[in-house]
Amino acid sequence: MARSRGERPTPRNLFSFSRLKSFHQCRARYRYRYLQGKREAFRSIETALGNVVHEVLEWLYRERDRSTSPTLDAALEELARVWPSSTGEDVAVVRVGDTAEAALRSGREMIERFHRTVFVNDGSETVALEKRLNLRLDDGLVFTGFADRVGRTAKGRLFVVDYKTSSREGDPSDFSEGLQAPLYATCTLESSGEDEVLAGYHYLRHGTTRWHPVTRERGRELAARFHALVLEANAATDFSASPSVLCAWCGFNAICPDAQVPEGLSGGLRLARERTISDIGEPQG
Ligand code: SF4
Repeated sequence: MARSRGERPTPRNLFSFSRLKSFHQCRARYRYRYLQGKREAFRSIETALGNVVHEVLEWLYRERDRSTSPTLDAALEELARVWPSSTGEDVAVVRVGDTAEAALRSGREMIERFHRTVFVNDGSETVALEKRLNLRLDDGLVFTGFADRVGRTAKGRLFVVDYKTSSREGDPSDFSEGLQAPLYATCTLESSGEDEVLAGYHYLRHGTTRWHPVTRERGRELAARFHALVLEANAATDFSASPSVLCAWCGFNAICPDAQVPEGLSGGLRLARERTISDIGEPQG
């Protein structure tokens, strides 16, 4: 199939957690995005909301490090400032009947809850925000990702925390919960010289945090597991589609012959059909 302008596959040796997750959810989507380098025709409002909320949390800690102790009102002003530029014409409200305004309201609630229950009491030191992490695996493969915040508790323990805007809390047995933040902690272990790093998920809709200690031995196990999953993805020759409810949020649903999108979740599909492939600009990383 001919590639449209700007398509560029992700290097075969570079694996983020999202890339691997995509392979396990639907191989057709994985092939479109990572092997063919196609750009998804839309971003869901949930994704846009997640990006904006992450941006505001990063701003909070940057401001704190500049000794300005940002108030809740200032955080909500920051949310209002970044929202319009982050929710442009490529953003789709997938659930028919939902609105972007409702998403913004839920963003405000998450920021308020975080500021009230975590931020004002947070005595930890920030080591890095939105930190790019890499871990060399065997065979020239590299795990890569971004940690939302790397810090040190008041008692001196190093930690990595990942903020989640999902509607449900994860379970340690989930593919995501079991691997993502622990792998970030493993990368941090490698560069820190410490014996243990805490890997955490903070669920912003629930106001809860789960911590998983990652020792050097655990880190080696996680890296080996990730490596095996990457080898499986790189050796794959079958990229069959796995249609599911996630098709409604998949930005390839307008070009995928196997897409199954119910009418009540057709907001993304409608937007994708309106946007032609030639409208789609630079490829995603
Ligand atoms: S529309 Fe569904 S089946 Fe098709 S690539 Fe996307 S997730 Fe896979």
